[in-house]
Amino acid sequence: MSLPLSRPETAQADRLRVSETFTSVQGEGKLTGIPSHFVRISGCNLRCGWCDTPYASWDPEGDVVPVEDLVRGAAATGVRHVVLTGGEPMLFPAIEPLAGGLCAAGIHITIETAGTVCRDMACDLLSLSPKLANSTPRAGDPRDPDGAWRSRHESRRLNVGVLQSLLDIYPERQFKFVVGSPGDLPEIEALLSKLRGVAPGDVMLMPEGVRPPTEATSRWIGEACARRGWRYCRRLHIDLFGNVRGT
Ligand code: SF4
Repeated sequence: MSLPLSRPETAQADRLRVSETFTSVQGEGKLTGIPSHFVRISGCNLRCGWCDTPYASWDPEGDVVPVEDLVRGAAATGVRHVVLTGGEPMLFPAIEPLAGGLCAAGIHITIETAGTVCRDMACDLLSLSPKLANSTPRAGDPRDPDGAWRSRHESRRLNVGVLQSLLDIYPERQFKFVVGSPGDLPEIEALLSKLRGVAPGDVMLMPEGVRPPTEATSRWIGEACARRGWRYCRRLHIDLFGNVRGT
């Protein structure tokens, strides 16, 4: 059963519900291949139909952990890059002291967000993944019998004002769009046309799915990127480990 976002313990300023922490390689984006420690915050304001971490969105799980323990655990790994991901980490006030503590420990911070909530906090790379129409759960999805999440998701998934505020705050950023077909491209172009300051080299297309992309998929994404100066973003961790938790 989905938990409401306002669970008192996850609204606290010094602790977060965490579905998993693990150390692996960064599989996506500009820092692909860099050894990284991941902290996956549980809870999301969206419900993507194809969400590959339902244990942090549709059915958020995990213990509530003090921020200081998360900082200590990350520092103890010896890895100098930490990825704060979810779920939607920007929802929770305690993400700010967590990022502040990691920053004070000299750790590089990437924050993965869908870009629907704005916070100004320590962050070395803001990784934005605005959700396209292909993410909206289908009518009749058994996880959403009354369609409430379908309409909530659709109304929340893109917020140009919030995205622009985030772009204005964070000079280091990347956009990762999950695409299923060439039909997704006009929506991306329309969104980017409403935003200021997005360099083509910061825009990446990632194939939807939890298996390595087919040759045909790679070809159309690669060609679409080449025409626009965007980047094709494979998921290295899927290639290396498959769709396995903790990688
Ligand atoms: S925004 Fe991310 S965590 Fe939330 S439902 Fe979509 S894919 Fe899952």
